[in-house]
Amino acid sequence: MIDRPADARLQDHADFRKDHGDAIRQVCPEFVLLCRRLKLFADGIVAIDGSKFKAVNNRDKNFTPHKLKARMQQLEESAARYLEELDRADREPSLVTDSRVAHIKDKMVTLKQQMQRLEEIGKQLQQAPDHQVSLTDPDARSMATSGRGTGIVGYNVQTAVDTKHHMIVAHEVINLGHDRTQLSAMAREARNAVGAKVALADRGYFSGEQILDCDQQGISALVPKPLTSNNRARGLFDKRDFQYIAEDDEYLCPAGERAKWRFSTVENGMTINKYWSSACPRCPMKSRCTTSEYRRIARWDHEAVLEEMQRRLDRMPEASLVRRRTVEHPFATLKAWMGSAHFLMKRLPNVKTEMSLHVLAYNLKRAMQKVRQRIMSGCRMKRFIEERLEARRRCYPSTWTTTSRKITPSCG
Ligand code: SF4
Repeated sequence: MIDRPADARLQDHADFRKDHGDAIRQVCPEFVLLCRRLKLFADGIVAIDGSKFKAVNNRDKNFTPHKLKARMQQLEESAARYLEELDRADREPSLVTDSRVAHIKDKMVTLKQQMQRLEEIGKQLQQAPDHQVSLTDPDARSMATSGRGTGIVGYNVQTAVDTKHHMIVAHEVINLGHDRTQLSAMAREARNAVGAKVALADRGYFSGEQILDCDQQGISALVPKPLTSNNRARGLFDKRDFQYIAEDDEYLCPAGERAKWRFSTVENGMTINKYWSSACPRCPMKSRCTTSEYRRIARWDHEAVLEEMQRRLDRMPEASLVRRRTVEHPFATLKAWMGSAHFLMKRLPNVKTEMSLHVLAYNLKRAMQKVRQRIMSGCRMKRFIEERLEARRRCYPSTWTTTSRKITPSCG
């Protein structure tokens, strides 16, 4: 191995990650288990968040139907320009040189090849389940990022981070551009890893089914509800102005009327109950409530779980701050380590392995810091005890015996 050339040894390293992906990925949970034994996770609270990491796939080599259409249009415009120039060469041969004509003809051949290539990609796009094709890393996907109008081709890295020491207790790499379906899986991973009972997440994770799933697993999710209704902005009452009376299964509306249950329907697999009051048509507050004949109120079958979560959030106003403080540190550190290119490997399983190595390195560093702090504070405690003993010895030199080596708070 030592006699092998440097390039071959480098290749061995790269292949090691590729060939031992399962084993490498398994080290992360094992290390988290070790940290748990060292009692580095005490609070049982985790913050869940996702961040987009770039893949080995240029944006120009990723296609969606929209991008394909724009690219084809670009090629057609170029072809039209070249044809026009060739027409001009036919009409006025003295204005266009022979070399320019030859150059344009070469360009036309290239354009034709590019167009054929795009038509091929168009066929692949139709067969792709998510209507997206990436040429360099076929698993990478185009994803929007937080900046307006920005996006990357990459992967979505999900983490559950312990709020006390900011260690990553669970992580996953996916190629979906959103977080809506990740809450319960990540919370379950965190619970299995460190016994987490509370999971903080941002609005992007709000999903009734996911929150219900967490509740059924004994995990208290804390996810703010996205404000999708613009009733409040239009000066109308929104749902928060209607109080649910559980024992009667009715709503109390702002005019003091009762909105009764009318019917149930299934929307996106969720049973939704509809309520309204018969008093709406003659209500003096109707102009502030609805533009329809009746103000209808929709209630999911498991809405009580969401209401309970909202009450928990109201009791913990600092939840959002704790979440941000917790998750931003690991993502910022990992991205700084990985540099501008982020992932170096291709295909989802390999990218998962690469991420596991980074997470392991991050957790190792954090754990060493915490253990060192613990040892230092142990040393400080030892010094404190010795100083107190010395003070006691000075206060009561005649009564000092080896059996009275106890710390007395009143002394010193
Ligand atoms: S319009 Fe209907 S729901 Fe709205 S306040 Fe009046 S009675 Fe209540």
